[in-house]
Amino acid sequence: MPINPTDLQHPGAAHVDSYWAATAGPEVEGAAPVDSDREVDVAIIGGGYTGLSAAYHLGREHGISAHVLEANRIGWGCSGRNGGFCSIGIGKDDFGDWVRRFGLDPAKQIFEQGREAVRSVQRILVAEKLEVDRSPEGGLELAHRPNRIGEMAVRQRNLKELFGLDCRLLSKSELDQGYLVSREAHGALIHDEGFALHAMKYSRGLARAAQRHGAALHGASPVLEWRRDGKRHLLQTPGGSVRARQVVIAGNGYTGDRLHPATNGRLLPVLSNIIVTRELSQAERESVNWRSYLKIWDSRRLLFYYRLLPQNRVLFGARGGIDDTPGTTGTRRHGWSGGSPKCSPRWPRWRQNISGAAGSASRATRTPISAASRTVPSTTPWPIWAPVWRWRHIAGACLRGGLQEDPMAR
Ligand SMILES: Cc1cc2nc3c(=O)[nH]c(=O)nc-3n(C[C@H](O)[C@H](O)[C@H](O)COP(=O)(O)OP(=O)(O)OC[C@H]3O[C@@H](n4cnc5c(N)ncnc54)[C@H](O)[C@@H]3O)c2cc1C
Repeated sequence: MPINPTDLQHPGAAHVDSYWAATAGPEVEGAAPVDSDREVDVAIIGGGYTGLSAAYHLGREHGISAHVLEANRIGWGCSGRNGGFCSIGIGKDDFGDWVRRFGLDPAKQIFEQGREAVRSVQRILVAEKLEVDRSPEGGLELAHRPNRIGEMAVRQRNLKELFGLDCRLLSKSELDQGYLVSREAHGALIHDEGFALHAMKYSRGLARAAQRHGAALHGASPVLEWRRDGKRHLLQTPGGSVRARQVVIAGNGYTGDRLHPATNGRLLPVLSNIIVTRELSQAERESVNWRSYLKIWDSRRLLFYYRLLPQNRVLFGARGGIDDTPGTTGTRRHGWSGGSPKCSPRWPRWRQNISGAAGSASRATRTPISAASRTVPSTTPWPIWAPVWRWRHIAGACLRGGLQEDPMAR
């Protein structure tokens, strides 16, 4: 069964039943649906990090009051459901891939942009005083097989010498003693850039900050049709039309092919998953010596990522395929909660301890995410601005909402 990301004919859908939705506090107020025809300067389609950040920066830096049109609730898409890893990586490619494809200087520029993206989230958090359950700074990349350590040593040297990232290698015994014990942790690269946050607290905080800087947010306002009206764009929502001078498409993997030719055929929704366990007891954590609240990911191409949340729950994430049936969802959940032999090698006592937590009282979310045809973020040509992310990017989406050249200010 193909993935059906959102039903524009039934707008205003509730958030999926996730740990984030249950712990994020109240919804954003003042996000009523469009209820009459209106003329606006900038319309933004999509109320996730990209759309909200674009609205925030347009208001704060240029005094433009953007109108955000969200089909469901603010933060309903990936921005309310992700793992919360705010990292400097951009797109799907690795730093080494960039050097090979583009050369060293462009690769350094991309890297710096990734850093700047993380800093932009930090700046928003501080300037707007947002409380998002931040983790400590930094992250651990685990060598999930012994033969990955050699590659990791090369990466460490390159990241340090070419990109100026202060990172070092940890041995298996350092990992076991100071971070966690796992059969899939044979060494690690540790650095102190990036952090993790509560996905939905951040999207709501960003939404409120955008409102404070003049943005108008509209939930339950899907753009059903888009026509040109002279030099203007006419966006049709169920409650009225929005006539805009400029439009940002920030619909991610939910955009669909029919909205505008600019995004037609450029996005493939694929499933991504996270599971959050109940709180682990101290004995359960000690059984794998899990001491660190740093974000962790492994050296797989389609990586596993996990972290301890502040309340000592485990958040575990992985990719989830391109078909969406009750069967595939059940299989995934069974695998993660320790029912599958695939799960047990990761932690020696996973089955007895942590898998009990995952199986007994956990929340799992399967969510479409956009897999763009290109492996690096891209945008459609001006004047339609449609940033396209491949897999991730919390931080990239927040770097002025992908409006790298501030075209709106022209
Ligand atoms: C399970 C999972 C884990 C992830 N983990 C991480 C992570 O740890 N770190 C990281 O950096 N990234 C992660 N990501 C990716 C990250 O969440 C996304 O890159 C980011 O949230 C994209 O934000 P966005 O605003 O572009 O899109 P979204 O948040 O998906 O928002 C798009 C919105 O557009 C709306 N929309 C679509 N079409 C229309 C229309 N016609 N009219 C009106 N509204 C419309 C949708 O309803 C939706 O709310 C993860 C994603 C998933 C699914």
